[in-house]
Amino acid sequence: MSEPIKTLCPYCGVGCGLEVIPGEPASKTPWQVRGDRDHPSSLGMVCVKGATVAESIGKDRLLYPMWRETLEQPFRRISWDEAFEKICDRIQTVIQTQGADAICMYGSGQFVTEDYYTAQKLMKGCLGTNNFDANSRLCMSSAVSGYIQSLGADGPPCCYDDLETTDCAFIIGSNTAECHPIVFNRLRKYHKKTPHVRLIVVDPRTTPTAAAADLHLAIRPGTDIDLLNGIAYLLIQSGHDAPDFVAQHTTGFADFAAVVQHYPPSVVAERCGIPVEALETAARYWGESARVLSLWSMGMNQSSEGTAKVRSLINLHLLTGQIGKAGAGPFSLTGQPNAMGGREAGGLSHLLPGYRSVTSPQHRADVETAWQLPAGRIAPQPGRSVWEMIVGLENDEVGLFWIAATNPAVSLPDLERTKAALRRSPFTIYQEAYHPTETTEYAHLLLPATQWSEKSGTMTNSERCVTLASAFQVAPGEAREDWAIFAEVGRRLGFATQFPFQTSAEIHAEFVKLTRDRPCDMTGISHERLHTAGPLQWPLPLGETANRQAKRLYTDLKFHTPDGRARFSAYHSRGLAEPPDQQFPFILTTGRLYGHWHTQTRTGRTDKIRQMHPHPFIEIHPRDAEQLAIAEGDLVAVQSRRGSAQFPAKVTRAIAPGTVFVPMHWGALWADHAEANALTHPAACPDSKQPELKACSVMLVPVRIGEAIAFSPAIRTENTLPV
Ligand code: SF4
Repeated sequence: MSEPIKTLCPYCGVGCGLEVIPGEPASKTPWQVRGDRDHPSSLGMVCVKGATVAESIGKDRLLYPMWRETLEQPFRRISWDEAFEKICDRIQTVIQTQGADAICMYGSGQFVTEDYYTAQKLMKGCLGTNNFDANSRLCMSSAVSGYIQSLGADGPPCCYDDLETTDCAFIIGSNTAECHPIVFNRLRKYHKKTPHVRLIVVDPRTTPTAAAADLHLAIRPGTDIDLLNGIAYLLIQSGHDAPDFVAQHTTGFADFAAVVQHYPPSVVAERCGIPVEALETAARYWGESARVLSLWSMGMNQSSEGTAKVRSLINLHLLTGQIGKAGAGPFSLTGQPNAMGGREAGGLSHLLPGYRSVTSPQHRADVETAWQLPAGRIAPQPGRSVWEMIVGLENDEVGLFWIAATNPAVSLPDLERTKAALRRSPFTIYQEAYHPTETTEYAHLLLPATQWSEKSGTMTNSERCVTLASAFQVAPGEAREDWAIFAEVGRRLGFATQFPFQTSAEIHAEFVKLTRDRPCDMTGISHERLHTAGPLQWPLPLGETANRQAKRLYTDLKFHTPDGRARFSAYHSRGLAEPPDQQFPFILTTGRLYGHWHTQTRTGRTDKIRQMHPHPFIEIHPRDAEQLAIAEGDLVAVQSRRGSAQFPAKVTRAIAPGTVFVPMHWGALWADHAEANALTHPAACPDSKQPELKACSVMLVPVRIGEAIAFSPAIRTENTLPV
């Protein structure tokens, strides 16, 4: 390794550039990474996850295909040939006996775009079922539906330079400091050195992000729409709206204004649990700032009214003309490193490549033609979302469940119900780099997959910047690329024409043709160009040179709607799907910590990060702790209508009275009985199908040493959630 190899961090959607260099003599690995100063998104910065990524890559790897007839049997090693035979036999049997819609695949934002694209071609094209969903469903599908409904197309319109050109950053439902650290670093540095810049943070917890704010609005969970409508009310009242922009570039204002008049400050402040003055200050900061940038992530998206929340936030930008210019706009921060690439390649059950929809006859025809498949092959209705796949397993409607690069036995809601459904599956394929994970227990066939560093492919970060992550080491054992596994299954099922690929560069070249003249036009991007020119941002049509000035969307104020105008929405808040009551008086909210990534498949295998966050915990306000006689470090049993867990108490004023917080990272491999999702429910946004993982109601019981925890077994039957 003479020259550093340039790649990007495989953890979060910030998409920081990395350079791979030889390991120092004392390091545990033959190579290590450092920040890439040339990468336009991160400018050389990395957080602890990116900095330590080398340590986890080689540990506990799944090396060979493994098979067992039933979940009670041990796995035995089989050849790839045998594995492919079993998959193809099962697919053909299921199609003949149950139909193609009994086949489901659940993929991951850890895929490179080429994996995503090949999976869409196999499932939606060749097999004729739209039952492909990804873990992005849990992360940002409300942002997708919000952008599409308000602006006519998906795609964050902003870029990271906006962090350093804004006058007011409005962060809502995002602990950016811990979950998107390098985005926050850029904003924080600029905020510190530019006194007029305002930072508003909306979060029920006093997170490190909130602690850095000029104004922290610690609203009650579930009152986001009240707050946003309340700010709109004040902006209109104070004349800080932009009537010319509204008249020329939007529709739907009258309905929006009619709703907003029901949100005067006294009503909103009372509902949100904040002082009227704080609400007025937020509206004044927004209204008086020349450029306003909003940032959000799962605190908005993971909600039974996620799309409504996203659209209510976009309303504020439309009301004040804060979009399509530097330092302004509604900016969704994506969770996974390639959630954006998944959206571009059609990697949710209602999408097709190139920001197309399965419900559009024209879009289906475009894709069928490109894939050389007969007209009518792609189904006209959305496939199952991941939770609908779980329900399908419960009802014996799923004959083959194929999981790849994700860990649903920790990350899905209502975990005991999820696990029971997984146990019912007649045939589960689990394609994964690591062994074991919590999901291994539910698989019949394990397929060893390569991961970052061992395969080449592209990933797109939150600011639409595409980076080539090249392979720089040999994969262990018999691991294969995800795309290569999908392509081989396709060939063996008789679709040789559709899967001629020998390299991921060929797949990428085919994929970008399907983005021609689409909002995410990437026809000017290729593996070769990324290799020589470095990261490139879309839209970048063929023949255009990368232009760093043209990095924002909608600068011409023409939106991707039929009339070119953005659409206001008009929503009243419905609140939480499961509000607290006498029996379950606390609101549980879940979230992430700085060092850990999702279900710890990598970071749990990294010493430094394990030392940083050695165990799970529950945050509880001192007032509540006193009432329940809970002291710091006491074990607390937590019960919801669906399940139970237990955590050591962290007594802190960072959480509001009546609310408790638990990190979601700990599954059964890493701690006993500490799964946050044992408590959560699957009620979801009707538009985005994104579950409300952020809030459910619970009861707390201190656990006395030597006492058994007395959980109530009958409570589950009282679940009345619309699932
Ligand atoms: Fe990786 Fe995200 Fe950290 Fe950047 S901020 S180094 S992309 S985990």
